[in-house]
Amino acid sequence: MKAEDADRTAFVPGTPLGAVIGKDAYNKLHKGFGYEVVGELLDHFPNRYLEVGELTAIATLPLGEDVTIVAEVDSITQRRMHTRRGMLVEVVVKDAFGPEQAYLRMTFFNGYQALKELHTGTVAMFSGKVTRYREHLELTHPQYAVLESAAEAEARPIPVYPSTGKLANDVIRRSVLLALGGVDESGWPDPLPAELLRRRRLLGRAAAYQDIHHPRQLRDAYRALRRFRYDEALLLQLAIAQRRAHRRGQPAVPRPAAPGGLLERFDACLPFRLTPGQLATGAEIAADLAGTHPMNRLLQGDVGSGKTLVALRAMLQVIDAGGQAALLAPTEVLAAQHHQSITRALGPLAAAGMLGGDERATRVDLLTGSLGAARRKEVLLRVASGETGIVVGTHALLSEHLQFAELGLVVVDEQHRFGVEQRDTLRAKAGATPHMLVMTATPIPRTVAMTVFGDLEVSILEGLPAGRAPINTHVAPLNNPKYRTRLFGLMREEVAKGHQVYVVVPRITETSVEDDGGSTSGAAPAPAGGASDAAAKKPRETVEAMVARLRAMPLMEGVRVEELHGRLPAEEKARTMADFEAGRIDILVSTTVIEVGVDVHNATLMVVVDADAFGISQLHQLRGRVGRGGLHGTCLLATWLEDGHPSRARLDAVAATRDGFVLAEEDLKQRREGDILGSSQSGRKSTLKVLRVIQDADLIAAAREDAEAIVDGPGGLEAHPALDRAVREWVDEDMQAFLERG
Ligand code: ADP
Ligand code: MG
Repeated sequence: MKAEDADRTAFVPGTPLGAVIGKDAYNKLHKGFGYEVVGELLDHFPNRYLEVGELTAIATLPLGEDVTIVAEVDSITQRRMHTRRGMLVEVVVKDAFGPEQAYLRMTFFNGYQALKELHTGTVAMFSGKVTRYREHLELTHPQYAVLESAAEAEARPIPVYPSTGKLANDVIRRSVLLALGGVDESGWPDPLPAELLRRRRLLGRAAAYQDIHHPRQLRDAYRALRRFRYDEALLLQLAIAQRRAHRRGQPAVPRPAAPGGLLERFDACLPFRLTPGQLATGAEIAADLAGTHPMNRLLQGDVGSGKTLVALRAMLQVIDAGGQAALLAPTEVLAAQHHQSITRALGPLAAAGMLGGDERATRVDLLTGSLGAARRKEVLLRVASGETGIVVGTHALLSEHLQFAELGLVVVDEQHRFGVEQRDTLRAKAGATPHMLVMTATPIPRTVAMTVFGDLEVSILEGLPAGRAPINTHVAPLNNPKYRTRLFGLMREEVAKGHQVYVVVPRITETSVEDDGGSTSGAAPAPAGGASDAAAKKPRETVEAMVARLRAMPLMEGVRVEELHGRLPAEEKARTMADFEAGRIDILVSTTVIEVGVDVHNATLMVVVDADAFGISQLHQLRGRVGRGGLHGTCLLATWLEDGHPSRARLDAVAATRDGFVLAEEDLKQRREGDILGSSQSGRKSTLKVLRVIQDADLIAAAREDAEAIVDGPGGLEAHPALDRAVREWVDEDMQAFLERG
């Protein structure tokens, strides 16, 4: 069946599918995918194509390689397996082309689908890897597409569609061809302006549908795919540009720097010089704060680059201009740390109303869920009265009881742990929209940031403060007893030198299913090895067991070992952290609660046990906890994985470089797209269907430029009604949530 021969009645995207493809096929497709109308079916794109150009003759099949053959089924049999449950379908095929007809066997485990679709005489295109079984070559579980005849394969590439497994590729392919017959420009007008199509050399919409489903050559299919990718990129960027335009239209109270204020005094007393990166990003933020529209900025800087200081200086500028600042941290431990280090850094400037306080001083308060009722009430009062200039806290800050006198700036540390609703709640606490600064240590390539963070402006804090000692990172194989002993020896040596040690493990107790839940961001991909994976079988190290082991070791006599994890009561966590900071604990065994921000200068060694349980960026952040006080830091990534295991590669990558950007790229490469966009966390389907945020960086950048030109152009997006409608249709609930992550 050729699309061109089909009935020329024009369809529109909303034409009911049943009328076009017949009741039988409709029932199948509806059951499989829930499709109702032609447009839905045509948006079901192939995920690959089989091509005649790649064809190999059976007689010349190269062992171990991926091949595509067109062959005719000679026989098909099924039998039960002896050694395991299930059945085996064996299909013997012979070449459909060429004078020599060699035979080849294929096997499908539980191949019910193959049994249904392949019969003696069926011609199909098969592709898969050539393996040897006993004396014969064979293809195991190949992909295939049933053909009308061998000639069909010669004509065009064969699309292979994503399927539910129950649904034959052929049913989808034939239905799509029927639907395609009614696609033309009148029923499928192009929402993209003609000028744009020309300038970006994009295929028109109707033609793109033809070419993606029924290409003459593979090249045509890719061109069509590019058009659809651009569509997604443009719709996304238009939605973002609209949000940005909306935000820029909102008023905010300008908070310009005031001469003679807290910020000037603070700067004058700094014991060190700001790094060039801190100066540059500080200037960008200062300018935004002075503006009459709300700032919405992402401050991105590697672990230890000094982001907190940049944020603190922004907060002081806001206080000088009569506003208050809120700093949101992802955990109580971190909130307490921020509170302490900010109070310490400000010294007399944070001692309003206290003896020895500066006459212009402000107050820094901590508000967490674990605060006693009386203390809590005091803090609430001070924030409401405006006495408190900076309030640091976790999401307890979002409680409805908290009222600000004049909230001017919200700083969010580590944005990936914060939901948009939470930030909106905070925004709602201010009369006018407050300025917003989001800090993250996860380096994200710029075009990815454009996509993932919507309308955030991005400031990149480059460079590390001078005097930062290097961190040496090594992978320590645990399956080698010598290394295991050495690991504990090294801990003991550091303690003997008067230094402190972090031991990070994946789990709290044997029975806990997961870790603290503190880190959804960098979770490691599942081990690739599956059941045969020795490391996967070995139970993960726990805080409980590690503490017990260390305490029982004669080697560790006199060494003070304590634990820290998310299940401990908040006061205990805070006390342990304070003890560690004060040097009253030598070895701190913890989960990833210490992942972000914690700053103990005397800690020189970090041992991450079962390091393969963590993701790349998580490991990178973790090791940033050592080597902070000018003391040389060492990070050991201990793993049971054998050398050469795919997940070992991740650890080697972390050991090989300190460059956060290199690691971020590595991390992104190893994760699926959906993870980056957060859809895997919400359990929803990926928001973007064909656009790939990393590989399509150029396309995204182009689309962003075009989107801005359209939104800022004469008449804005409304001047392009078709496009406007497409954006509105496209921005459904999922997309709305996604956009608001920024
Ligand atoms: P991060 O970007 O990881 O949040 P921090 O803000 O925690 O980094 O800073 C790390 C350490 O570096 C802190 O102890 C901080 O006081 C210190 N620091 C920040 N800026 C400078 C600077 N310009 N010179 C020297 N030390 C600095
Ligand atoms: Mg920090």
